[in-house]
Amino acid sequence: MEQASLAGAPKMKEVTHVDWIRGITLERVTVVNKSEGRHECIVRTLKNTELVGQCDACARRHAPTQLRCAMTRREPSPLVEPVHYVFGTQTIVPGIWELDGGQETFNSSLSREVWVQRAPTAATRSGALLLGL
Ligand SMILES: [Zn+2]
Repeated sequence: MEQASLAGAPKMKEVTHVDWIRGITLERVTVVNKSEGRHECIVRTLKNTELVGQCDACARRHAPTQLRCAMTRREPSPLVEPVHYVFGTQTIVPGIWELDGGQETFNSSLSREVWVQRAPTAATRSGALLLGL
């Protein structure tokens, strides 16, 4: 059995789906391992054209056929809080979350992050708080 490991460069093939989308930067977050509140993630940064256009609903590269995407609609993305949203529903992932160990960047678009949930909700307007970014 292959052991999941934090070591090594993340590969696009590991990004089989998207779990969360980060507000403002619109980075895509894939949880690859989860136990007791500790979430090992691969984070994909958007290409500059996608960020400028506010691509917020395409799992891979921007697709002009994706009508739910703000870039397709030529509208600003509503994902403007510094929190994680559930990819697909755009609801906020509640809780106090702490980035453990910083960001480990391997190339221009993919990095590994570990997010630990410290509390189920946060005393903020959104109910969520990301610490350590
Ligand atoms: Zn898009």
